[in-house]
Amino acid sequence: MPHVLVLNASYEPLGVVSMRRALVLVLDKKAVSLEDSGVLMHSATSAISAPSVVRLTRFVRVPFRGPVPLTRRALFARDGGRCVYCGAVATSVDHVVPRSRGGQHRWDNVVAACRRCNHVKADRHLADLGWRMKRPPAPPSGLAWRIIGTGHRDPRWRPYLEPYGSREEVSHVAPDVPRPEAPTERLSA
Ligand SMILES: [Zn+2]
Repeated sequence: MPHVLVLNASYEPLGVVSMRRALVLVLDKKAVSLEDSGVLMHSATSAISAPSVVRLTRFVRVPFRGPVPLTRRALFARDGGRCVYCGAVATSVDHVVPRSRGGQHRWDNVVAACRRCNHVKADRHLADLGWRMKRPPAPPSGLAWRIIGTGHRDPRWRPYLEPYGSREEVSHVAPDVPRPEAPTERLSA
């Protein structure tokens, strides 16, 4: 079932909710639909077109945003799905300073890597191998990452996320490829 992008009244991306939850927000007038998903949701008496993007009618203050959760999906998105050492398609997660040498599982010590580089590197330091990285790994920043980290994707979200992340980052959550026709969902309420 597709999910719905929720924007603050200020248009800042806040998160992703289920279509059902988004529809309740719209019906309660807590949010307005900005983009239609094309999915029809049926209640006992009527059919409603479910949104793909909603915007809250009142501004919600977000007190504190912690670091972007470190997940495999988010890490691959940060590194463009490519091995940071050789540029091949990444298939594994590498700890720059190996865990066996005290390296931590943190944004600034993990990178996407191909199987070969990961195997060759094993538990050695980059300096031991004479390898270099284009830039040191760093935690991703920007509000678009709140959405990228969820793993949900929809091309309709793209224009709403582009002001909050780089084009390449946003392309991970909002690919150009059109989604296949969404199924009709029954709204049991
Ligand atoms: Zn590689």
